[in-house]
Amino acid sequence: MANCWFHHEEILPDVFLIRERFFQSGNRANLWLLRGSRTDLLVDTGLGLWSLPEYLNAVGLSSTRKPLLAVATHIHFDHAGGMHQFQATALHRAEVPALEAGDDYEAVTWLSDSEVVQPPHLGWRASDFCLQATTPSRSLEDGEVLDLGNKQVEVLHTPGHSRGSICLLERSNGLLFSGDTLYAAPLLDWLPYSEVRTLKASCRRLAELVRTGAVHTVLPGHFETFSGDELIRRATAYADGAGLVHSVSASAMRCLASLALRFNNR
Ligand SMILES: [Zn+2]
Ligand SMILES: [Zn+2]
Repeated sequence: MANCWFHHEEILPDVFLIRERFFQSGNRANLWLLRGSRTDLLVDTGLGLWSLPEYLNAVGLSSTRKPLLAVATHIHFDHAGGMHQFQATALHRAEVPALEAGDDYEAVTWLSDSEVVQPPHLGWRASDFCLQATTPSRSLEDGEVLDLGNKQVEVLHTPGHSRGSICLLERSNGLLFSGDTLYAAPLLDWLPYSEVRTLKASCRRLAELVRTGAVHTVLPGHFETFSGDELIRRATAYADGAGLVHSVSASAMRCLASLALRFNNR
């Protein structure tokens, strides 16, 4: 059973893209598994409606013999919803309280019945869904390094989409896990705790990083992978293009989104 809940493909050696099979939505996140010689790293955990640890075991992607660290790129429900399923977990310090409280407002929990094409159990309704509170085993800071044995993964705090958004850089293969800070679609900067000014700064930081030659392939939180050059193009377009009018309209949208979320998650 467990092996049908998700599907995966190895897109690069020891880099797996995992997706939730029964969550059909633009909000369905890319979940990434990076295998290390001593520890495996899972980047984002999905909704948590289906057991990702069971799936990883069933398809041979993980075993009890090797530790697995599950890191959420940020608190949003489509990324951190499954954190409670794992023993070793990590999240940026700024969003630890929200995960510990199961804060659906900060997690932007927004799920409809039509997006879940096969409910996890009989009688399940999207209105039952909430971010399950859990205490991460580790809270992350900018500049920290996650040691996987033969790979070292650097934590970059890139706030703006949310206040604790991070990107993860694996230099030896030039991989950047960009979460929702940057993907190949218009960026979401109007959610609760989003901030245009800091997202622009994070985009500039990422573009600078790519210019140093550190990034080959960007593995985003949604949609398809893209190149470092494409990152520079997208990050620069956002940082240079989001002016006063953009900031004002993002603020207006944030007010509406906040009201809707408060109402939806009463
Ligand atoms: Zn997000
Ligand atoms: Zn997302």
